[in-house]
Amino acid sequence: MSIRLASNCSHCNSFTAAHLCKKHKLKVSEEYVCDQFSLIAKLDDSAQCTNCLRHGKEDCAHPNVAAEGMLCSSWAPKV
Ligand code: SF4
Ligand code: SF4
Repeated sequence: MSIRLASNCSHCNSFTAAHLCKKHKLKVSEEYVCDQFSLIAKLDDSAQCTNCLRHGKEDCAHPNVAAEGMLCSSWAPKV
C-alpha cells in the first residue's frame, strides 16, 4: 500500500496556527478529521502530478486530468 498525505485537521483549510477549528470553534489536532474537511490547496510548492507516485499508474485518482501543476489529495511521494 502506498503512503499518501493524511486527510486530517492539520491539512484542513479550517485549521489555525493556534490548533483551533474555525468551523467548530474547538481545539483539534492531526489526530482528528470531520466530514467538512477541506484540503489546503497548497501544501508544498513542489507537490504536483508529475512527481506523484501514482502518476500514469492504475491507482491515479484522476488519470484524465493529471498534469504538471495539478495536485489532488491522493498525491503520494516517490520513494
Ligand atoms: S474539525 Fe473538520 S473542519 Fe475543523 S479543522 Fe478538522 S477537518 Fe477541518
Ligand atoms: S491526479 Fe492525484 S493521484 Fe493522480 S497523479 Fe495527480 S496528484 Fe497523483
